[in-house]
Amino acid sequence: MTKPIKRRDFMRNSAVAGLTLAGTKSSVLQFPNIMVQSGVKPIVISSANGNKFKNGGDMTAVQKAFTMITQGADVLDAVIAGVNIVELDPLDDSVGYGGLPNADGVVQLDSSCMHGPKKRAGAVAALEGVRTPSLVARAVLESTDHHLLVGKGAQSFARNMGFNIEDDLNTDHSRQLWLEWKRRTDPAHYLDPKARAEVWRREGLKMVEEGLVDREHYYGTINCDGINSKGEICGVTTTSGLAWKIPGRVGDSPILGAGLYVDGAVGAAGSTGRGEANLYNLCSFLIVEEMRRGAHPKDAGMEALKRIKANTIEKRLLNSKGNPNFGINFYILNARGQYAGVTMYPGASFAICNESGPQTLACEALLSGKPND
Ligand code: ASP
Repeated sequence: MTKPIKRRDFMRNSAVAGLTLAGTKSSVLQFPNIMVQSGVKPIVISSANGNKFKNGGDMTAVQKAFTMITQGADVLDAVIAGVNIVELDPLDDSVGYGGLPNADGVVQLDSSCMHGPKKRAGAVAALEGVRTPSLVARAVLESTDHHLLVGKGAQSFARNMGFNIEDDLNTDHSRQLWLEWKRRTDPAHYLDPKARAEVWRREGLKMVEEGLVDREHYYGTINCDGINSKGEICGVTTTSGLAWKIPGRVGDSPILGAGLYVDGAVGAAGSTGRGEANLYNLCSFLIVEEMRRGAHPKDAGMEALKRIKANTIEKRLLNSKGNPNFGINFYILNARGQYAGVTMYPGASFAICNESGPQTLACEALLSGKPND
């Protein structure tokens, strides 16, 4: 017996069929990738820290964002309110207040945000003194004709927009860790710049191995993307960047197409991990374009990881197996509410929140083993 198909179910089933068919070249031509814009189940996806830190409150980032989305808030406002919890929580030393500082002991923050339906974007890089760079990124989106403000200019802009500028965003914890790093690397100041950069990296990673710095926080960031029942998608990425970075170093997080990319009709992708690898390959853009051609979020993410692996050829970045010796993760959501978390090596996780509540799930890995095998 055949049951009558409700319009909503028909659209959902056709969408899934379209996804499967779109795997072949000819079907891409026959079935242009028109995304279903209604009947989507709201969902929020983020890096794992989005379901860990609460800043003394009762909700994690993904819970907060999901709650706001289902209450009808703008999706960008919701995901930013979510990441604000992590930015403000001193316990997450990879984002916002208390983020691990640069080589001079100064916390410099990067953030970007994109609004799918409005097709607008804003970002800040190397911003000092503001605990919530994602809110400054949103102010760039809302109040300027630009997409990216950096350094002192970004700080002046924030001051003019009424943000409180603080002298120092270190916590005792981040300052102690910086002092430890400084103590270990001081003798290295007499090395040539290339050798010094290597020592900085080696000592930093040693502090990770010794458990002084959380592996997730040496590189560490929060990316959070959400979709509401109208199919509206927005995303935000915010970070203190690479621990002990050269002052002024900007990673992938504030760069559109790298740390974040949103196309309201297709989906969103964001990243945590070695920003340089992502900047070189502009993976969030690549992932969204793969989805536009019909790829499932997981397959789109795997394509990006393969691209990174193929373009990583410098010996210092390879392990004994000839594979990348660093971690990188992508968090991906399409306009149908399908999602994936992918990673170079097993061990990374990601967070989601949907009608069943918040969950932390394992990312699918491209390679087996560990970065430093
Ligand atoms: N991707 C960020 C950066 O390179 C850091 C991170 O996610 O760990 O600045």
